[in-house]
Amino acid sequence: MANTTQTADKSYVLSDKTRQFLSGPPKRLLIGGNWVEPASGETFRAVNPATEETLAYVAQAGASDVDAAVAAARRVFDSGAWSRANPHARSRTLVRIAELIEADAAHLAELIVLDNGKTLREARKEVQNVVDSYLYYAGWPTKIYGETNPSSDDVFNYTLVEPAGVCVAIVPWNAPLLGGSMEAGPALACGNSFILKPGEQASLASVRLGELMLEAGLPPGVFTLLTGEGSVTGAALAEHPDVDTVAFTGSTEVGKRVLAASVGSLKRVHLELGGKSPVLVLGDADLDLAIRDSAKGIFALQGQVCCATSRAFVHRSVYDEFVAGMVEAADAVRLGQPLDEETTMGPLITGVQRDRVCGYIEAGKREGAVARAGGDTAKNGPGYFVPPTIFADAHNGMTISQEEIFGPVLTVIPFDDLEDAVGQGNGTIYGLAAAVYTQDISRANALVKRLRAGTVWVNNTLTLDMIAPFGGTKQSGFGRKRGKQSIEHYTSLKTVFVRF
Ligand code: NAD
Repeated sequence: MANTTQTADKSYVLSDKTRQFLSGPPKRLLIGGNWVEPASGETFRAVNPATEETLAYVAQAGASDVDAAVAAARRVFDSGAWSRANPHARSRTLVRIAELIEADAAHLAELIVLDNGKTLREARKEVQNVVDSYLYYAGWPTKIYGETNPSSDDVFNYTLVEPAGVCVAIVPWNAPLLGGSMEAGPALACGNSFILKPGEQASLASVRLGELMLEAGLPPGVFTLLTGEGSVTGAALAEHPDVDTVAFTGSTEVGKRVLAASVGSLKRVHLELGGKSPVLVLGDADLDLAIRDSAKGIFALQGQVCCATSRAFVHRSVYDEFVAGMVEAADAVRLGQPLDEETTMGPLITGVQRDRVCGYIEAGKREGAVARAGGDTAKNGPGYFVPPTIFADAHNGMTISQEEIFGPVLTVIPFDDLEDAVGQGNGTIYGLAAAVYTQDISRANALVKRLRAGTVWVNNTLTLDMIAPFGGTKQSGFGRKRGKQSIEHYTSLKTVFVRF
């Protein structure tokens, strides 16, 4: 049984900026360039998952706020202030956004840790990724162009690549700043009016992002922030007739609802959904590397990662050694207060999520898997902590192998026959990512083709880059984000014929 260390609750001194941010009045909505209270006056609590304390109160946007926000976003879009702005000017504004975020990095990282529970190291890395993302998309406005086509001799035929219009992103809480920024960057680069609906479990970094967007000089209404519950704010946005596109990141279940809601006005919808990604460890793999990466693949952000590698299929010849290595990795985790620099794993996001993950751990034990590390479902509050758990003696039919747990729980399954392992690896409703560990590059390339996943890693795990497309197959969604694929989502193609 693993003996994960619990780090002590050392007092961490928050920066003045963060204390000031949290001590103010309830956070408001950003509509038409102004911070406004929601029409209903309703707010909800932002909770620190490591202490269960209230951090701040945040506005709950209702249907009438959504109407006002979409109308303001449409007005500025039609005005051309941003949608037809000089591309060089758009680039400069995106660079300015990146610079402001970079200058505010320490404060933003604190907000992310407090609101989400990831470690300081992870939060700092997230902010850096956000900066890189805006800088990457700052390069795009001057490179979005159509083409001329060899149509008949009496016409001149060309295409224009235009902004899509009023674009919504509904995102979860697991990357509180990156989730929305990954959409905002390309949406703004293309000249759209952009509306962000962050996950209600961690919206504070998005509030700060809204402040920085105004400071960067975006025309009022180009960036809108609507905080609130998904079933209220998210649902109203998904079905709004004057919204042109929705980029949804979240669970498969809610993704289906968003798609259904979009049908009324036939919005363009992009779905980035859940996963149950396999890692295949072949008998000839560099085992130390496979273990190190598999620990990262399931323990990063407490396993609350869409592409977490949560099922390991390991060749029987190295199975025991792999399990022992994973138990050692779980033992080395320092679970505790995420503002403590020594902590390597913080709490889960909410009590509901903690109970859900613990429910899966109980199901795993009930169905006959053996928890070789963790497995403890006692509530050791305050804080929604769950120790990293490694299940051995598992098979792919178990609940813990089929359903997305979204917690630090790995299922390790032995295999003898590689064909069978590929079949089992593909054997869930999901198809987001997969990883392969082998020193035989020919075998790796053959496996890459066989795995039904949007991303396949060979001898690495969780590698993502803003320049590389990311997305799922099967019920992990459709569409790709990042890279030029996001530019395609946020633009519309117009075909023009001019008679000579
Ligand atoms: P969720 O689906 O519950 O919520 C995601 C977002 O949708 C939130 O902003 C939420 O408020 C909103 N929402 C909820 N109900 C809604 C409704 N009826 N209409 C419109 N919007 C609604 O997901 P979650 O629990 O917050 O996040 C975890 C899930 O997100 C996991 O399944 C994870 O795999 C997935 N995820 C996927 C990716 C990816 O890129 N594929 C990335 C991160 C997370």
